Amino acid sequence: MKIFISKILLASAFIVSISNFAISAEISDSASQSKANIAILGVGGTIAGQAQSAAQVVGYKAAALSVDDIVKTIPEISSIANISLCEQIAQIDSKDMTDFIWLTLAKRVNQLLSQDDIDGVVITHGTDTMEETAYFLNLTVKSDKPVILVGAMRPNSAISADGPRNLYNAVVVAGSKNSKGYGVMVLLNDRIFSARTVTKTNTILPSAFNSIDFGALGYVVENEPKFYNKPVRLHTVDSEFDISKIKILPKVDIVYSYAGTHSDEAVKAFVKFGAKGIIHAGTGDGSIHKSTMLSLIEAKRAGIAIVRSTRVAGGIVAKDKNYDDNFGFISADSLNPQKAKILLQLALTKYQAKDNKKIQELFEKY
Ligand code: ASP
Repeated sequence: MKIFISKILLASAFIVSISNFAISAEISDSASQSKANIAILGVGGTIAGQAQSAAQVVGYKAAALSVDDIVKTIPEISSIANISLCEQIAQIDSKDMTDFIWLTLAKRVNQLLSQDDIDGVVITHGTDTMEETAYFLNLTVKSDKPVILVGAMRPNSAISADGPRNLYNAVVVAGSKNSKGYGVMVLLNDRIFSARTVTKTNTILPSAFNSIDFGALGYVVENEPKFYNKPVRLHTVDSEFDISKIKILPKVDIVYSYAGTHSDEAVKAFVKFGAKGIIHAGTGDGSIHKSTMLSLIEAKRAGIAIVRSTRVAGGIVAKDKNYDDNFGFISADSLNPQKAKILLQLALTKYQAKDNKKIQELFEKY
């Protein structure tokens, strides 16, 4: 009798545990359905970096780990999003970024975001040219779904590595419905920045990224993006630039000015090597050393677009009739030289150097 009762108890416990299992499977099914589906694309950088010792933060190898390996070190990510795919687009130190990788990346991001089953994209990237890749994507991605670039200032192997937290936060932002419509964003050190205004301002600190003059878009706090600003310049779905059929971007180079400059030699060399545009990183509000002027005027006459930016970190280069009306130069507004280069490259896919008024309008819109 005793044996019989305990068998019944055992059987009913078994049935209860099966049905518990079914309920919890159902709960976890619906939980994973309510989580956002995020694609993570790897480009390399310090976030994928490895050093010989945990104390080392200089002279390590960037782009050592695959994006898959980095994601595996942060199991907590699976509680905030479904990672639909991890894909390696490139594996480089971002100082070596190329137009080809940008085009490949932009096309892949566009493909992924056109899918209903992808809600956002996170890109792990080196910090050295992150602002440039972010701005290029800001002008060429055709979706209002979130795209977040994330990096680290310390390699993955370091004591207090910042990459894992940054990546976790980037997935939080990419997976939030509140992040739609902000264009491409950059995330480091708990702060969210707009691709257009963000720049790297420090060579070593985890707080290296900032938007000089314009501030961050917001923070990530406790699994939630908190936004306080919204970009007003055109981006993503409102951008007129279409790279879907482009294989090579126009060659645009940057010439830097300084006291005692010989920048005219650099201008002539860039012209000789086929530049279609030159960004002049001038002094102050985009002024040009008198010894460089002639080479720029000649370059413009030879059909090369000339944009005046500045080596100063803040402020704007406004239209100045002495330069722009007189010689057909273009002022960069508040874009730093490396971002002005990107906008000019894309502008030259639509216009020629002689259309400097049209190109100037682009610099006031994007
Ligand atoms: N030092 C760089 C970084 O912080 C390396 C790179 O840009 O790839 O990621």
